[in-house]
Amino acid sequence: MSHDHLSSYSFETLAIHAGNQADPLTGAVVPPIYQVSTYKQDGVGGLRNGYEYSRSANPTRSALEENLAALEAGRRALAFASGLAAEDCLLRTVCAPGDHVVIPNDAYGGTFRLFSKVMERWGVEWGVADTTDPASVRAAVRDTTKLIWVETPSNPLLGIADIAALAEVAREKGTRLVVDNTFASPYLQQPLTLGADVVVHSTTKYMGGHSDVVGGALVTSDEALGDELAFHQNAMGAVAGPFDAWLVLRGAKTLGVRMDRHCQNATAVAEFLAGHPRVAQVYYPGLPDHPGHDVAAKQMRAFGGMVSFRAAGGMEAAVEVCNRAELFTLGESLGGVESLIEHPGRMTHASAAGSALEVPADLVRLSVGIESADDLIADLKRALG
Ligand SMILES: *Cc1c(COP(=O)(O)O)cnc(C)c1O
Repeated sequence: MSHDHLSSYSFETLAIHAGNQADPLTGAVVPPIYQVSTYKQDGVGGLRNGYEYSRSANPTRSALEENLAALEAGRRALAFASGLAAEDCLLRTVCAPGDHVVIPNDAYGGTFRLFSKVMERWGVEWGVADTTDPASVRAAVRDTTKLIWVETPSNPLLGIADIAALAEVAREKGTRLVVDNTFASPYLQQPLTLGADVVVHSTTKYMGGHSDVVGGALVTSDEALGDELAFHQNAMGAVAGPFDAWLVLRGAKTLGVRMDRHCQNATAVAEFLAGHPRVAQVYYPGLPDHPGHDVAAKQMRAFGGMVSFRAAGGMEAAVEVCNRAELFTLGESLGGVESLIEHPGRMTHASAAGSALEVPADLVRLSVGIESADDLIADLKRALG
């Protein structure tokens, strides 16, 4: 199916067909896993379809990259070995020593660690802003700011950033807006269509969707930036392997139906928690009293599968709920079909302890899976005691 043809299709159709052309050799309807490092050349420099060496390009990875570009309504996508490898590539493509990045005050712990423990040693400066407030972001931008970095919904507090408003700030200040779209997935929100310059993904999460692969991606509509990112992807080398690319491509096909169920179940779980006496506060953008509800309703198709809450009994009670849950598996990560529970303060966000990004000690984060909502609620009821 040609690109021109694809552009008229809706998301659900693109998810299944973009990048998934039948194999020209056999007609196989699923792209093969090209588990190969190098390619026969027809005479020196005579490459077949541009394939030379699998760090530079591999047909299974190309299929995934075409799919991701279509799903994010972008022109160019690049697939990496992990979400952090994608972030690292973006930062080293765009920033040099002395440059500055504005980051959210509740960034994913690994993203914060990349800035505070790695990029800082190479002279890249960073400042924290409340990305739910465009005025706070505007105030944090300096002359040297190369990127405004946003996660929405954010991790783990599910804050909502107004992507269109922040794109405006980025344009006004002559810098670029990056949106980590891991939590929403392109099914719920397409940041490039709202004015963002680059989308970052941990495809490990909802894109892959089955907790069986680690991967990352960058997507942009800026062709020149896309070329620079592709140059660095090859020059630095943290590419997605063929099998990992194939798993994410397979997961992407069911993204829409999975997200519909994640959102439905998360809504039911959030409503249950909001009425429970041992729960002090629930964070879910779908609840009408969530401070980001209106912005989320404007820029998202639905409110996602992540729910966080504070245990009324403090940190010990939060840890106890995590330990007592059975159907919710105690573990890091998110976005798979199976439900997960975790204590961000001691698990995913432990590296933010003592910083401006420290999370409340009584916080519990849920990745609500696609099991029966009744079973999930019964498990939480039992775990809360
Ligand atoms: C997991 C995650 C990352 C990092 O991705 P990896 O695939 O684990 O390297 C980045 N951002 C968010 C929001 C995440 O949840």
